[in-house]
Amino acid sequence: MAEEQHPSTLPFDAADEYRPEPPPPPEIPAWKDGSLRIGIHTSIAKDVSAALDTAYGLGANALQIFSASPLMWTIATRIPPADAERFRARRRELGLGPLVIHGNYLINLASQDPVLRARSVQAFHVEIVRALALGADFLVTHPGSAGARGMADAAAAAAQGLRQAARGSSLGELQILLENTAGQGNSLGSRFGELKAVLDACPDLPLGVCLDTAHWFAAGWDIRSADGLESALQHIDKTIGLDRVFVLHMNDSKTALGSRVDRHEHIGKGKIGSAAFGRILNHPLLAGRAFILETPLDKPGDDRRNVAALWKLAGREAMPVRPPAKKKTTGAKRSRAGKRTAKARVRARRKVKG
Ligand SMILES: [Zn+2]
Ligand SMILES: [Zn+2]
Repeated sequence: MAEEQHPSTLPFDAADEYRPEPPPPPEIPAWKDGSLRIGIHTSIAKDVSAALDTAYGLGANALQIFSASPLMWTIATRIPPADAERFRARRRELGLGPLVIHGNYLINLASQDPVLRARSVQAFHVEIVRALALGADFLVTHPGSAGARGMADAAAAAAQGLRQAARGSSLGELQILLENTAGQGNSLGSRFGELKAVLDACPDLPLGVCLDTAHWFAAGWDIRSADGLESALQHIDKTIGLDRVFVLHMNDSKTALGSRVDRHEHIGKGKIGSAAFGRILNHPLLAGRAFILETPLDKPGDDRRNVAALWKLAGREAMPVRPPAKKKTTGAKRSRAGKRTAKARVRARRKVKG
């Protein structure tokens, strides 16, 4: 009896083909849903995670923090992993974003002094490490001070300092933003051409710009009128490109147009005025940016009032109501909560009966 011949080739059935599980779509953070983002610089004095609750409680849906004391050389300060994890979890619960970190004020990447320069590079490197630990979206830094040398040399030095500080770090989603300055002293970055020189010298870094309204005005751009704002925006678009601007610092100015002096004022109480902030918040060329307050806190409630002022000027009553996601409750807490609702239900039923 001839053995049954086993077919050497099986007919191809597409259904048999092995298909690996498709990779899950990247998780889009809640703040990238296209909604208006208004934030405020919040203190980390109590605890880094408490800053999140403070911002949320003030009616903001974005925030800026320092990740360590801004006036001390905190070269060695790293965020303990447990604190960073707690921070990230609480931020997810509150749906806050973007998270902007403002770098240390002592950092001067454009410095001619080799000691200050080396310290600055090291400190900015640790700023990057801390920003990554906290899951920040943006790290803002002032471009530096030129000292006695020309702005072109200072821009080249700042760019080299940024590249050195970022070397060896994988930045992931983190973007570094250079802030425009008022032009006080020899500060680099009051002209957009200077910022462009730094951006152009770092093609491999995820670099953008943070636009501070008070600095913009003090540097000589008259953004008070619709026409003035238009030409100021066109100038930015022609130099660095508006697509490189990710965050605005929303500050009114105590000082006059072109004063080159940096003094922040409450929204609507300074020389820029409310109408200009309304136009900035609603300008189609600035849609999708985060608007972060760095206004003074002169008396209690100033922070809340400034946040509310921006929502109002944007044409909203307040932050869209989004109840924070519930913290995971423990089994004990859950059963207690369950009993409470059960009791309430019983009482309600008795009421109906009675
Ligand atoms: Zn600023
Ligand atoms: Zn300022």
